[in-house]
Amino acid sequence: MLIGITGTPGTGKTSVTRLLEEDRLYQVIHLNELIREEHLYSEVDTHRDCVVADMDLVYRRVLELQDRSNSLTIVDSHLSHHIADIAIVLRTSPERLKERLEKRKYSVDKVRENVEAEALDIILAEAVDWCEKVFELDTTGKAVEGTLKDIQRIIKSLQRGETEELENIFRPGTVDWSYYEFD
Ligand code: ADP
Ligand code: MN
Repeated sequence: MLIGITGTPGTGKTSVTRLLEEDRLYQVIHLNELIREEHLYSEVDTHRDCVVADMDLVYRRVLELQDRSNSLTIVDSHLSHHIADIAIVLRTSPERLKERLEKRKYSVDKVRENVEAEALDIILAEAVDWCEKVFELDTTGKAVEGTLKDIQRIIKSLQRGETEELENIFRPGTVDWSYYEFD
């Protein structure tokens, strides 16, 4: 089973999956690194300072890398919901996300683009379209360890095949940034 940890850049995917890796219970793939290292992209968008991933190539490579002795593979990336069966979507309030991305020295345009995408639930909507099951987690005002615990609970429920309670707690649509006013 492929579990995608997805969400707008800056919502905490890589931080939390690095902690999850320490358990050594699951295979974790940091997809953005893999895409860059193995050139799994079709274009370099110099204007937006990013690469355009070739998702067919990416999916094939992830299946190749998938450790057969491990029933679960966790994929960290804002693209992971395109290839995963299950998506865990991390959310962060637009105000908080803006601060995080500014700290990262993203350009003004790139900060705005990502904050807008977060405010408009873009990745959540895509995940709901593409994946069998979607869990939505608000990370605003939480420590990384708190988000880690939520993700561990979800993974354990998937392993047991008893997800009903957590699907209800982390139901898509529980996070609402509609109050947010764009600049
Ligand atoms: P992403 O991989 O989604 O782009 P990163 O993990 O690289 O995000 O960066 C997220 C930043 O937000 C890190 O500096 C992290 O410490 C911080 N952060 C604050 N609260 C949380 C939380 N609850 N969960 C995950 N990250 C958080
Ligand atoms: Mn990341």
